[in-house]
Amino acid sequence: METDFIRWLRDRLPPHPSLQVGLGDDAAILRLADRADTVVTTDLLTDGVDFRLAEIDPRRAGRKALAVNLSDLAAMAARPVAVVVSLALPQQGCIELAQQLYEGLLPLAQEYDVAVAGGDTNTWHGPLAISITAIGETTRRGPLRREGASSGDVLVVTGQFGGSILGKHLDFRPRVAEALLLNDRYELHAGIDVSDGLSLDLARLVAESGCGAEIDPDAVPVAPAAQELANDPRGNKSPLDHALGDGEDFELILAVPPAEASRLLSDQPLDVPVTRIGRCTAEPGLWTRDPQGNRQTLPPTGWEHVFDR
Ligand SMILES: [Mg+2]
Repeated sequence: METDFIRWLRDRLPPHPSLQVGLGDDAAILRLADRADTVVTTDLLTDGVDFRLAEIDPRRAGRKALAVNLSDLAAMAARPVAVVVSLALPQQGCIELAQQLYEGLLPLAQEYDVAVAGGDTNTWHGPLAISITAIGETTRRGPLRREGASSGDVLVVTGQFGGSILGKHLDFRPRVAEALLLNDRYELHAGIDVSDGLSLDLARLVAESGCGAEIDPDAVPVAPAAQELANDPRGNKSPLDHALGDGEDFELILAVPPAEASRLLSDQPLDVPVTRIGRCTAEPGLWTRDPQGNRQTLPPTGWEHVFDR
């Protein structure tokens, strides 16, 4: 099955300038830009955790598996170059499923100019698992990291938050072009993508930077989907709760020195709004502070993988 499938896949892969040797040999050969650092990230998605194959078109699962990796490269302000894709497929209908996954993944790869350099395709008795490893390269101003924010930095975010389970968690656009543009034009101190929750990922950023953060709850851009979820009488969360803790928004949080932040916020250089949500504090921790000055501890909420002990 694998030979036929690789032939099917090879016919669908366009040439890529960084890919010297792609599918068909024992390993791929990439040629990366001179003097750039190589950025590597990987994500493992499984049926029942990251998507429910019984409920969605498999193409959306394939697309998501690539998109989450691109979002991590965006968080580092790295330009995506290539990916390798490993599939563990349930035996029943495995070829059709593999093709559908790729039919979701390949258009996104092409849109983001990423070479599919190789991978592995196996079957087993378990549910679908997709592991993608993405390789990127840094650009002129180097990578963006979680470390580097300092007291007084302004915290800005792209886009809106909350309610991603209603669709955005599958169909989001990784903020690659946005991160590259912002990193090129503005001095950014630190950044992270919101995979697990705005408050949880913000807590991770400030923890790595050795500072804290205060956010203005009224300033958080709440997605209509968060409002929609909050309206459901079965739930007990406010739209803001959803925005702070739902996760899988795949937007960016950036810590920006104040003068640069003012310039960025007035320029609004992206197709998506950039919003100031708060600032970094010297004291480690996470708080909300409203415009009247009332300060409250903000417990980070979001998705965390649970491991059996
Ligand atoms: Mg991330």
